[in-house]
Amino acid sequence: MGNYATIISELRKKAGLTQSELGEKLNVTPQAVSKWENGLSEPDVETFKKMSKLFNVSLDYLLNGKEEISLNQDDILTFDKDELIVVNEPTLHKIISGYCVKCKEPVAPGEYEVVSNGLTQEIYCKECNRVRKERQRKIEAENRSKEIKSGIFWGIVSLVISLVLGFVLIKIFGLENDAISWIVYGVGSYGLGAMVCMLIWGTWLFDIFEFFIRSFQMPGVIFTLDIDGLIFLIVVKIGLALLSGLLSLVIGLIGVIICSAIATVGFPFTLIHELKN
Ligand SMILES: [Zn+2]
Repeated sequence: MGNYATIISELRKKAGLTQSELGEKLNVTPQAVSKWENGLSEPDVETFKKMSKLFNVSLDYLLNGKEEISLNQDDILTFDKDELIVVNEPTLHKIISGYCVKCKEPVAPGEYEVVSNGLTQEIYCKECNRVRKERQRKIEAENRSKEIKSGIFWGIVSLVISLVLGFVLIKIFGLENDAISWIVYGVGSYGLGAMVCMLIWGTWLFDIFEFFIRSFQMPGVIFTLDIDGLIFLIVVKIGLALLSGLLSLVIGLIGVIICSAIATVGFPFTLIHELKN
């Protein structure tokens, strides 16, 4: 006889039954079950049949731990008992919406967040999404402080250049009423204006510039390799680039107008000019 002793013991434990509970189901004493499991005695054929039904396994499995399924005469598949799923064990079927792109864990409905990443959508589990958001916030804060610093820096640089140039032109060359000195006023006040804009609107101007750059390299726009596809590519990529370029120009123009207004009223050169008279 095969290794039925360990098989019976394993099946009983997997089913969550005690020796006496199994004995009750098979109309034998607990001692009888104990003897089978220790290989001291052997169940009769009828008991084997009952156990086969009870544990939902074949007699073959009960006797030697192997399931032989005959698909056809020439093709016999042999399974190891470890590979078999015990039917008595409750199987939990979890409905899965997908897998988190970060930790690869399966996520159930309501347990995830869909994050739109350009043209694709990604599933994040709640925890990974929290980490992602936190990192994004940090990066944005860092970028904003960098932009403010560079805005102040270039504002000061153009202000200093324009102050020095203006001083040279007005004091040394006496060109206070010349068009050149007004251009210098413009440069300086534009720098000043850029600095103010940076402090008030922050990333706004940069965002538009970034969009301009991105529209050239926008990934994932699907187009086919025929005339229609090429036209689509040209319209989408070049069209968007032109549009954002135009937008940048308009904003630049508005900037110049605002700065000119600042230059006539509050710019240091105007004050110097006033003091001279
Ligand atoms: Zn995750």
